[in-house]
Amino acid sequence: MFEKVLIANRGEIALRIQRACREMGVRTVAVHSTIDAEAMNVRLADEAICIGPPPAADSYLNVQAILTAATISNVDAIHPGYGFLSENADFAAMVEEHGFTFIGPSPDHIRLMGDKIAAKKAVAAVGVPVIPGSDGPVKDERDARAVAEEIGYPVLIKASSGGGGRGMKAAASPGELGAALEMAAREARAAFGDGTVYLEKYLSGPRHIEVQILADGEGNVVHLGERDCSLQRRYQKVVEEAPSPALNDDQRQEIGRIASEAAARLGYRSVGTMEFLYQDGAFYFIEMNTRLQVEHPVTEMICGLDLVREMVRIAAGAPLGYTQKDIRFSGHAIECRINAENPDTFAPAPGRLGNYHVPGGLGVRVDSALYAGYQVPPHYDSLIAKLIVHGANRNECLMRLRRALEEYIIDGLETTIPFHQRLMSAPEFINGEYDIHWLERFLGNHEQTG
Ligand code: ADP
Repeated sequence: MFEKVLIANRGEIALRIQRACREMGVRTVAVHSTIDAEAMNVRLADEAICIGPPPAADSYLNVQAILTAATISNVDAIHPGYGFLSENADFAAMVEEHGFTFIGPSPDHIRLMGDKIAAKKAVAAVGVPVIPGSDGPVKDERDARAVAEEIGYPVLIKASSGGGGRGMKAAASPGELGAALEMAAREARAAFGDGTVYLEKYLSGPRHIEVQILADGEGNVVHLGERDCSLQRRYQKVVEEAPSPALNDDQRQEIGRIASEAAARLGYRSVGTMEFLYQDGAFYFIEMNTRLQVEHPVTEMICGLDLVREMVRIAAGAPLGYTQKDIRFSGHAIECRINAENPDTFAPAPGRLGNYHVPGGLGVRVDSALYAGYQVPPHYDSLIAKLIVHGANRNECLMRLRRALEEYIIDGLETTIPFHQRLMSAPEFINGEYDIHWLERFLGNHEQTG
């Protein structure tokens, strides 16, 4: 096992990884920007090293500074968390070249899945159903038009290097195609330095269902069930739950089997998530994330595994040690992403915390690095806490979530807690009858009536 691990991240996920390491007796090194010097994960780490000024490009994305910190603190391994460098294949390769272990998949798998066109081809080749669309990149409008005619409108233009919903534009008719193509390519070039786009059939009312995979790279793979992440705003997840209220047990096992068999055939190692859209009883692969996900706790709550510990164990060379039949699911879990944002407009609202009170009790988990008096910096993602609730069934989970949201006090800042409370009383959410477009409609309606 590793003696010391550097955590190349910040905020709640840095603390989450640190907690797993501490339980395993592994020492931790926190790296941080100047503005994060007082952060909770920095305070609790065994060692802390400042790697640069607040802008992420100069600190959390500063590969040289991170590798230097790893060298001087003499760590064995680096955990990238999510975001920042977690899906940067070149970073993973450099970590290994410098003699450290990258706690994650191989650089080759990160590179493959980071190219969404290549990823779709690779999984289709091992039997995973994908969304109808262009075979590869669309070169120009003529090319796009030909594919769109064939699969039928509406279509969605997507960025091959895409992430975070950027570089994605829908076209409902031939008249909209040219502009959508241009906008998607421009956005993709600006966000990822790569304007390559492809085309997919735009599904009118699917659910986003993703399967959590855990693999040791030696052919042992399990799936840890699915998460339903259909509650989205601007293609970004807001609330996630497991299991999905839309699937029955047969469908659940079927998609789990497809995903884990594909991961085994690809020789995948570490945690990974295969994302699907699900409509009219059919699953369509959209992408694979080669990292720990923000929403991983809902899976942990229903299967009782610590995903970070499993990642660390596998990276240290341990075999998985269990098979699919050993995985037991219990109850229902829901996660609310709590952001430092205005709950109506979702405008970022960083600031200093006053009083802080965390909900507790049976089945309640809060993953956060907040504390009273903490200053939320304006330089990073606005996610400040994740409230995760587990119940024996979905109804118990919902009642507990309402109670926990009521108890949660974050003074001094605007947060999205009031938004989550509104959501909890919407009949469509209570009944589990929502698709990926529902939340935007709900917010639109609310703005009109509110
Ligand atoms: P990103 O990597 O930018 O997050 P994804 O491919 O994971 O992009 O898609 C993000 C979200 O966009 C999905 O969860 C879904 O809501 C929506 N989406 C993606 N592809 C389609 C599609 N073909 N039809 C309808 N919605 C889609």
